[in-house]
Amino acid sequence: MNKYTKITASIGPKSEDRETLTRMIRAGVNVCRLNFSHDTGDTQGQKIDMIREISAELNTPVAVMIDLQGPKHRIGNFATEEKYPLLIGQKFTFDANPLPGDSTRVQLPDSDVLASLKVGDRILLNDGKIEMRVESVSPNSVETTVMRGDEIWSRRGFNLPDTEIDTSVLTKKDRADLEYAITKKPDWVAISFVQKPEDIAEVRDFITARTAHPIKIIAKIERPNAVERITDIAAAADGIMIARGDLAVEVPYAEVPAISRYIIRECRKMNKPVIVATQMLGSMVNSEFPTRAEITDVATASYLRADSTMTSEETTIGINPVKAIETMANILRHADCDAIANPFDWSRVENIPENDWSRSVASMAYLNRASAIVVFARDTIATTQISCRKPDIPVIAVCNEPAIANQLCLARGVFPIYDTELFGMRDAFNAARRFNINMGKLVIVDEEKISLRTLD
Ligand code: PEP
Repeated sequence: MNKYTKITASIGPKSEDRETLTRMIRAGVNVCRLNFSHDTGDTQGQKIDMIREISAELNTPVAVMIDLQGPKHRIGNFATEEKYPLLIGQKFTFDANPLPGDSTRVQLPDSDVLASLKVGDRILLNDGKIEMRVESVSPNSVETTVMRGDEIWSRRGFNLPDTEIDTSVLTKKDRADLEYAITKKPDWVAISFVQKPEDIAEVRDFITARTAHPIKIIAKIERPNAVERITDIAAAADGIMIARGDLAVEVPYAEVPAISRYIIRECRKMNKPVIVATQMLGSMVNSEFPTRAEITDVATASYLRADSTMTSEETTIGINPVKAIETMANILRHADCDAIANPFDWSRVENIPENDWSRSVASMAYLNRASAIVVFARDTIATTQISCRKPDIPVIAVCNEPAIANQLCLARGVFPIYDTELFGMRDAFNAARRFNINMGKLVIVDEEKISLRTLD
């Protein structure tokens, strides 16, 4: 059984030794995500080197994705380590004063944030357990009323679902992290708390000013204003991550499944790969087995034809990261197989013109019951576009650059091979045989030429 849906694995303390990482890649990891919210600099650089070495040893393309922390906002410090209760209806002030906080006020260190808040905006703390509403704003402070109470203490992170923050998507830390990461030639860079397409342009300019290496950009969708602009953001980015952790704080949690489905469909139209992220097998942080609900969540991502599912803490700090990947791969294989048995309904591909060439490739494969599509991939564009038509047969991408093979690791149903010896129509048969496809028809795409050949 082939696995069409890719696995993006977050790498952390429990998965960064060579043996564990090798076993995880063998078990089905296609993309390794290195979260720069935790380690930075050479510590991450050594992991990138190790992933490259293992990928070469196993002769398996694996993508490296670095994930920048982004403007994650935190309140200032309180006078003591104790927790301060906030009760419904009470007033609480956020201000620019660096003095330690108390039960009536605390500093909000980012002046951009303080300046962006408007009357009526919500401030959510402790993963949304506390909700406050802004009652009045003055140049150096905002006064709020507590709408939902809990305890507050020093340096808690907060979310502002109603506020467009007029600030760069790259913090000072992100710039330093990206500057370093670029020297290690990652395949993907994931940008946190994207709000608008211009954020992607800013990061792309930062990268292209420093390297000619083709680093692709993932926009993490975790804010309501990013959901509203998903089409423009997807057009500007090279891929999307549905970052359900922060998203479920910033939008009503019950809306997250519908938003996820909407984003996956938009990405399909825009020819951009999409990752479903966070808590997919969350219980496996402490358990060897997933919950029934998690099994269904992973399978649903496959049924919706997402490109990749993602592991988070289950592979960074979990008791058995290899088991978490084996479990995810096993669920995906079954769901992908079931999805293929119930083929994709072409009538539901909205806004893809009948004469779109990638749609023609996928229809040609479908109508001729082809065994595979072989693409000679000189860049990622044509293959990604075909993958977004979700043809439900393997798309074998023959790449003459390792970076192209690595980047295509994220695209659903794409099986990249890096081999400079394979180039002509005839070699399409050899490429297919590497994946044990020995019979049937192949749709072959080589630049402008599309042909149908029978394997002999
Ligand atoms: C998320 O919020 O779902 C997410 C993936 O982001 P991070 O893990 O960087 O907070």
